Amino acid sequence: MKITFLGTGTSQGVPVIACKCEVCLSNDQKNNRLRTSILIETNDKTIVVDSGPDFRYQLLREKVEDLDAVLFTHEHKDHIAGLDDIRPFNYLLKKVIDVYATERVQTALKREFYYIFAETKYHGLPQINLHTIINGESFKIGDTEIIPLEVMHHLLPITGYRIGDFTYITDAKTISEASFEKIKGTKILVINALQKEPHISHFTLAEAIQFAQKVGAETTYLTHISHNLGLHAVVEKDLPANIRLAYDGLKIEL
Ligand SMILES: [Zn+2]
Ligand SMILES: [Zn+2]
Ligand SMILES: [Zn+2]
Repeated sequence: MKITFLGTGTSQGVPVIACKCEVCLSNDQKNNRLRTSILIETNDKTIVVDSGPDFRYQLLREKVEDLDAVLFTHEHKDHIAGLDDIRPFNYLLKKVIDVYATERVQTALKREFYYIFAETKYHGLPQINLHTIINGESFKIGDTEIIPLEVMHHLLPITGYRIGDFTYITDAKTISEASFEKIKGTKILVINALQKEPHISHFTLAEAIQFAQKVGAETTYLTHISHNLGLHAVVEKDLPANIRLAYDGLKIEL
Protein backbone atom coordinates (compact mmCIF):
# COMPACT_ATOMS: atom_id res chain seq x y z
CA MET A 1 0.00 0.00 0.00
CA LYS A 2 1.27 3.46 -0.92
CA ILE A 3 0.20 6.63 0.89
CA THR A 4 0.67 10.13 -0.54
CA PHE A 5 -0.05 13.23 1.50
CA LEU A 6 -2.06 15.39 -0.88
CA GLY A 7 -2.36 18.17 1.68
CA THR A 8 -1.31 18.71 5.29
CA GLY A 9 -2.69 22.17 6.08
CA THR A 10 -5.55 23.34 8.26
CA SER A 11 -8.76 24.84 6.85
CA GLN A 12 -7.20 28.06 5.48
CA GLY A 13 -4.13 26.31 4.07
CA VAL A 14 -0.58 27.66 4.44
CA PRO A 15 0.31 30.33 3.37
CA VAL A 16 -2.80 32.07 4.62
CA ILE A 17 -4.05 34.74 2.21
CA ALA A 18 -2.48 38.13 3.03
CA CYS A 19 -0.50 36.80 6.02
CA LYS A 20 3.02 38.16 6.44
CA CYS A 21 4.26 35.73 9.13
CA GLU A 22 7.59 33.95 8.61
CA VAL A 23 5.85 30.63 7.88
CA CYS A 24 3.60 32.11 5.21
CA LEU A 25 6.51 34.01 3.63
CA SER A 26 8.92 31.04 3.82
CA ASN A 27 10.64 29.77 0.66
CA ASP A 28 10.83 26.23 2.09
CA GLN A 29 8.27 24.18 0.14
CA LYS A 30 7.47 22.23 3.30
CA ASN A 31 5.79 25.33 4.68
CA ASN A 32 3.28 25.29 1.81
CA ARG A 33 0.35 23.21 2.95
CA LEU A 34 -2.80 22.57 0.94
CA ARG A 35 -5.93 21.42 2.72
CA THR A 36 -5.64 18.03 4.45
CA SER A 37 -6.16 14.89 2.37
CA ILE A 38 -4.36 11.65 1.53
CA LEU A 39 -4.23 9.31 -1.44
CA ILE A 40 -4.16 5.57 -0.72
CA GLU A 41 -3.09 3.16 -3.45
CA THR A 42 -3.76 -0.47 -2.56
CA ASN A 43 -2.93 -3.43 -4.81
CA ASP A 44 -6.25 -3.00 -6.62
CA LYS A 45 -7.85 0.35 -5.74
CA THR A 46 -7.12 4.07 -5.61
CA ILE A 47 -8.78 5.87 -2.71
CA VAL A 48 -8.70 9.42 -1.36
CA VAL A 49 -9.61 10.42 2.17
CA ASP A 50 -11.52 13.72 1.84
CA SER A 51 -11.78 15.95 -1.22
CA GLY A 52 -11.18 19.48 -0.01
CA PRO A 53 -10.96 22.77 -1.91
CA ASP A 54 -7.50 21.87 -3.31
CA PHE A 55 -8.54 18.42 -4.58
CA ARG A 56 -8.19 19.25 -8.30
CA TYR A 57 -4.72 20.71 -8.00
CA GLN A 58 -3.58 17.92 -5.65
CA LEU A 59 -4.56 15.22 -8.15
CA LEU A 60 -2.88 17.11 -10.99
CA ARG A 61 0.28 17.61 -8.93
CA GLU A 62 0.51 13.91 -8.07
CA LYS A 63 -0.50 12.86 -11.61
CA VAL A 64 -3.33 10.69 -10.28
CA GLU A 65 -4.85 8.87 -13.24
CA ASP A 66 -7.36 6.62 -11.52
CA LEU A 67 -9.83 6.87 -8.66
CA ASP A 68 -12.23 4.35 -7.17
CA ALA A 69 -13.42 5.78 -3.89
CA VAL A 70 -13.61 8.80 -1.61
CA LEU A 71 -13.75 8.25 2.16
CA PHE A 72 -15.01 11.25 4.10
CA THR A 73 -13.95 12.08 7.64
CA HIS A 74 -16.55 14.81 8.16
CA GLU A 75 -18.51 17.53 6.42
CA HIS A 76 -16.42 20.65 7.10
CA LYS A 77 -15.77 22.56 3.88
CA ASP A 78 -12.01 22.02 3.99
CA HIS A 79 -12.73 18.27 3.66
CA ILE A 80 -15.57 18.15 1.10
CA ALA A 81 -15.45 21.27 -1.13
CA GLY A 82 -13.70 19.63 -4.09
CA LEU A 83 -16.10 16.73 -4.67
CA ASP A 84 -17.16 18.01 -8.12
CA ASP A 85 -13.64 17.35 -9.39
CA ILE A 86 -14.18 13.60 -9.45
CA ARG A 87 -15.90 14.25 -12.80
CA PRO A 88 -12.85 13.59 -15.00
CA PHE A 89 -12.89 10.00 -13.69
CA ASN A 90 -16.60 9.77 -14.56
CA TYR A 91 -15.93 11.04 -18.07
CA LEU A 92 -12.55 9.54 -18.95
CA LEU A 93 -12.73 6.23 -17.15
CA LYS A 94 -16.53 5.86 -17.27
CA LYS A 95 -16.41 5.14 -13.56
CA VAL A 96 -18.99 5.97 -10.92
CA ILE A 97 -17.04 6.91 -7.80
CA ASP A 98 -17.85 5.14 -4.53
CA VAL A 99 -18.31 7.67 -1.74
CA TYR A 100 -18.23 6.48 1.88
CA ALA A 101 -19.68 8.68 4.61
CA THR A 102 -21.76 8.46 7.78
CA GLU A 103 -25.49 9.30 7.60
CA ARG A 104 -24.85 12.77 9.02
CA VAL A 105 -22.11 13.54 6.51
CA GLN A 106 -24.37 12.27 3.70
CA THR A 107 -27.07 14.72 4.82
CA ALA A 108 -24.51 17.53 4.56
CA LEU A 109 -23.35 16.31 1.12
CA LYS A 110 -26.98 16.31 -0.08
CA ARG A 111 -27.32 19.92 1.11
CA GLU A 112 -23.98 21.22 -0.21
CA PHE A 113 -24.09 19.33 -3.51
CA TYR A 114 -27.91 19.25 -3.95
CA TYR A 115 -27.60 19.12 -7.76
CA ILE A 116 -25.82 15.74 -7.63
CA PHE A 117 -28.89 14.29 -5.93
CA ALA A 118 -31.58 16.22 -7.85
CA GLU A 119 -34.50 14.30 -9.41
CA THR A 120 -33.89 15.86 -12.82
CA LYS A 121 -30.20 15.63 -13.50
CA TYR A 122 -28.15 18.15 -15.47
CA HIS A 123 -25.83 16.74 -18.07
CA GLY A 124 -22.29 16.30 -16.72
CA LEU A 125 -23.00 16.04 -13.00
CA PRO A 126 -20.63 14.14 -10.72
CA GLN A 127 -21.61 10.48 -10.64
CA ILE A 128 -21.25 8.85 -7.25
CA ASN A 129 -22.50 5.81 -5.34
CA LEU A 130 -23.12 6.61 -1.69
CA HIS A 131 -22.17 4.01 0.91
CA THR A 132 -23.09 4.41 4.56
CA ILE A 133 -20.38 4.15 7.20
CA ILE A 134 -21.60 2.70 10.48
CA ASN A 135 -19.31 3.13 13.46
CA GLY A 136 -17.91 -0.25 14.44
CA GLU A 137 -18.61 -1.92 11.08
CA SER A 138 -15.65 -2.53 8.83
CA PHE A 139 -16.09 -2.71 5.06
CA LYS A 140 -14.05 -3.64 2.03
CA ILE A 141 -12.85 -1.65 -0.95
CA GLY A 142 -11.50 -4.22 -3.38
CA ASP A 143 -9.28 -6.55 -1.35
CA THR A 144 -8.69 -4.03 1.42
CA GLU A 145 -10.51 -3.97 4.75
CA ILE A 146 -11.29 -0.49 6.05
CA ILE A 147 -12.07 -0.06 9.75
CA PRO A 148 -13.84 3.22 10.52
CA LEU A 149 -13.32 4.60 14.02
CA GLU A 150 -15.05 7.49 15.70
CA VAL A 151 -13.10 10.40 17.18
CA MET A 152 -14.45 13.67 18.57
CA HIS A 153 -13.86 17.04 16.85
CA HIS A 154 -15.03 18.98 19.94
CA LEU A 155 -18.73 17.95 19.95
CA LEU A 156 -18.80 16.53 16.42
CA PRO A 157 -18.20 12.78 16.05
CA ILE A 158 -16.05 12.23 12.97
CA THR A 159 -14.47 9.25 11.25
CA GLY A 160 -10.87 8.09 11.33
CA TYR A 161 -9.73 5.04 9.37
CA ARG A 162 -7.57 2.04 10.12
CA ILE A 163 -6.34 0.10 7.11
CA GLY A 164 -4.04 -2.76 8.10
CA ASP A 165 -1.03 -1.26 9.87
CA PHE A 166 -1.97 2.27 8.87
CA THR A 167 -4.25 4.63 10.80
CA TYR A 168 -5.39 8.04 9.58
CA ILE A 169 -7.07 10.54 11.89
CA THR A 170 -7.58 14.22 11.28
CA ASP A 171 -9.48 16.97 13.14
CA ALA A 172 -9.56 15.08 16.47
CA LYS A 173 -9.72 16.74 19.87
CA THR A 174 -10.57 13.68 21.97
CA ILE A 175 -10.31 9.96 21.27
CA SER A 176 -12.20 7.41 23.37
CA GLU A 177 -10.62 4.27 24.83
CA ALA A 178 -12.91 2.22 22.53
CA SER A 179 -11.40 3.92 19.48
CA PHE A 180 -7.90 3.69 20.97
CA GLU A 181 -8.38 -0.10 21.10
CA LYS A 182 -8.90 -0.09 17.31
CA ILE A 183 -5.84 2.10 16.74
CA LYS A 184 -3.53 0.13 19.05
CA GLY A 185 -0.81 -1.83 17.28
CA THR A 186 -0.82 0.33 14.15
CA LYS A 187 2.66 0.77 12.63
CA ILE A 188 2.02 4.10 10.96
CA LEU A 189 -0.19 6.69 12.61
CA VAL A 190 -1.30 9.98 11.08
CA ILE A 191 -2.80 12.40 13.58
CA ASN A 192 -3.69 16.10 13.51
CA ALA A 193 -1.62 18.76 15.30
CA LEU A 194 -2.86 22.28 14.67
CA GLN A 195 -0.64 24.60 16.69
CA LYS A 196 0.98 24.96 20.11
CA GLU A 197 -1.78 27.13 21.59
CA PRO A 198 -4.94 25.44 22.89
CA HIS A 199 -7.82 25.03 20.44
CA ILE A 200 -11.38 23.94 21.16
CA SER A 201 -11.69 21.34 18.41
CA HIS A 202 -8.15 20.29 17.40
CA PHE A 203 -5.23 18.56 19.09
CA THR A 204 -2.39 20.92 19.94
CA LEU A 205 1.16 19.79 19.17
CA ALA A 206 1.59 18.59 22.77
CA GLU A 207 -1.72 16.70 22.73
CA ALA A 208 -0.83 15.04 19.42
CA ILE A 209 2.59 13.99 20.74
CA GLN A 210 1.01 12.62 23.91
CA PHE A 211 -1.49 10.60 21.89
CA ALA A 212 1.23 9.41 19.49
CA GLN A 213 3.30 8.19 22.43
CA LYS A 214 0.29 6.39 23.91
CA VAL A 215 -0.24 4.57 20.59
CA GLY A 216 3.51 3.94 20.19
CA ALA A 217 3.47 3.51 16.42
CA GLU A 218 6.80 2.96 14.62
CA THR A 219 6.29 6.33 12.98
CA THR A 220 3.68 9.02 13.55
CA TYR A 221 3.09 11.80 11.03
CA LEU A 222 1.39 15.03 12.10
CA THR A 223 -1.04 16.76 9.74
CA HIS A 224 -3.78 19.48 9.53
CA ILE A 225 -1.13 22.03 10.48
CA SER A 226 -1.66 25.78 10.93
CA HIS A 227 0.85 28.54 10.09
CA ASN A 228 0.75 29.18 13.86
CA LEU A 229 2.67 25.95 14.49
CA GLY A 230 5.89 27.54 13.19
CA LEU A 231 8.46 26.72 10.54
CA HIS A 232 8.55 23.05 9.48
CA ALA A 233 12.33 22.69 9.94
CA VAL A 234 12.32 24.37 13.36
CA VAL A 235 9.35 22.41 14.76
CA GLU A 236 10.66 19.07 13.45
CA LYS A 237 14.02 19.51 15.21
CA ASP A 238 12.36 19.37 18.64
CA LEU A 239 10.13 16.35 17.94
CA PRO A 240 10.86 12.82 19.20
CA ALA A 241 12.63 10.79 16.50
CA ASN A 242 9.60 8.67 15.58
CA ILE A 243 7.21 11.64 15.31
CA ARG A 244 7.52 13.68 12.12
CA LEU A 245 5.63 16.57 10.59
CA ALA A 246 3.97 15.45 7.38
CA TYR A 247 4.35 17.69 4.34
CA ASP A 248 2.58 17.96 1.02
CA GLY A 249 3.83 15.33 -1.42
CA LEU A 250 5.30 13.05 1.29
CA LYS A 251 4.97 9.41 0.26
CA ILE A 252 5.17 6.34 2.48
CA GLU A 253 4.95 2.69 1.61
CA LEU A 254 3.81 -0.17 3.81
ZN1 LIG B 1 -10.35 20.31 8.92
ZN1 LIG C 1 1.00 33.19 8.36
ZN1 LIG D 1 -13.15 20.00 10.80
